[in-house]
Amino acid sequence: MDSILVINAGSSSVKFQVFAVEGEGRLRRLIKGQMDGIGSRPRLRASGADGDPMADRAYPIEAIPDVPAAMEVAGEWLRNEARVTPLAVGHRVVHGGPDYERPVLIDHGVVAKLERFISLAPLHQPHNLAPIRSILTNFPTLPQVACFDTAFHRTHGPLADHYAIPYQLHAEGVRRYGFHGLSYEYISKTLPQIAPEIAKKRVIVAHLGSGASMCAMKGGSSVESTMGFTALDGLPMGTRPGQLDPGVVLYLMSEKGMSAAKVQDFLYRDCGLKGLSGVSNDMRELDASTDPRARLAVDYFVYRIGLAAGMLAAALQGLDAFVFTAGIGENSVNIRARVTEQLAWLGVALDAVENERHSRLISRQNSLIPVYVVPTDEELMIAQHTLALLMNGHSPSHRHERVS
Ligand code: ADP
Repeated sequence: MDSILVINAGSSSVKFQVFAVEGEGRLRRLIKGQMDGIGSRPRLRASGADGDPMADRAYPIEAIPDVPAAMEVAGEWLRNEARVTPLAVGHRVVHGGPDYERPVLIDHGVVAKLERFISLAPLHQPHNLAPIRSILTNFPTLPQVACFDTAFHRTHGPLADHYAIPYQLHAEGVRRYGFHGLSYEYISKTLPQIAPEIAKKRVIVAHLGSGASMCAMKGGSSVESTMGFTALDGLPMGTRPGQLDPGVVLYLMSEKGMSAAKVQDFLYRDCGLKGLSGVSNDMRELDASTDPRARLAVDYFVYRIGLAAGMLAAALQGLDAFVFTAGIGENSVNIRARVTEQLAWLGVALDAVENERHSRLISRQNSLIPVYVVPTDEELMIAQHTLALLMNGHSPSHRHERVS
């Protein structure tokens, strides 16, 4: 069976999904898996389309010290046990820099270009590139496609793309890129099927997961995002602070003697809901907690979403719909209720019953602004891009050979 493999590699995990290619380019999810605990407690888990378990194995730490080793083991499992021989591999790559505004077929030249963006996303880009390199080495004829989190936002105008810093830095790449682009692109492609007229208008999409951002879309294209140069800006997240006066960073360095590396670690791992609550980075735990600091963290999250909505509505010069997506947006009845309360001044009226039911449309009929819940699917987006590039660039029957 023809299939597409999708890989999303991070610092401590490699997530993968396999999609069957069916008639007329339709894709059907076959396998969902991940190798996590890389360098600590490596474990391979995989399940089929219905959630039926296919693998659950622990490995000694020295067997899987890094992402390439994890890729090797996951690859062997896919080939030898799951019997997957993909036509192509699609990768999530966090940074496409200023130039890549769409996915691209990977060759050595593209890898060299993407390596230049490591300094723009040092915590993610090297891990995204590691499996690309090992597949290029071991399976040089297997087509690979890079899909970028930044690409969907390359439609931003100069006002949304700049910081008020000397122009030279912008030329060097210090720009407001925006992230979660594959999720927003999926929503942009799905909304016309749900609300065709609304999809042509001004929509705010709130991607609320352990990473969180919001995107202002006009006619399905991104015009503004709460995230900027890195995925630290904007909304508070599980462990990242969101918008922060750069003076705080200066304070940490000059008064607390923290090095740049320490500050980086602190901003990515110890802030956000976790830092503020001192309880957890998981919204489920915070939602269930009566601890006053957990309450503060949830209140802060909701408040900042409300502020960002005002900002994005200003960028759009009005608002025609609001969409919730990702882990918290798709699942938390309470957060959706509280955020929509914050949006009442814009004309949002929630239908509590539909919200409880996790319906697609959760606003009342008389709400000036309809509010939707649309589950995102970044992996399907990557698989679709990969298949599309494969159809246009390579023969789908072109099989790859392993180089020994
Ligand atoms: P990522 O893909 O960025 O890891 P997800 O989109 O999967 O993140 O979202 C993870 C977040 O979703 C976690 O903070 C988790 O607590 C939250 N979440 C999942 N289900 C619920 C729920 N029922 N109520 C509240 N939060 C939830």
